[in-house]
Amino acid sequence: MPLEAGLLQILACPACHSPLQDKSADETAPELICTGQDCGLAYPVRDGIPVLLVDEARRPA
Ligand SMILES: [Zn+2]
Repeated sequence: MPLEAGLLQILACPACHSPLQDKSADETAPELICTGQDCGLAYPVRDGIPVLLVDEARRPA
């Protein structure tokens, strides 16, 4: 399920306030990836709703 157009533009990483990148190539586990160079947290998207919680984010390897 694609995110609503424009929604991504108003979303920001809660940890560092960088823009988020939609990475839905894997449709089973869409994620929003923080574009912050020192951050890079990956936030899950559940039922089309981004979960922008640092506690829920997947940390980069
Ligand atoms: Zn970030």
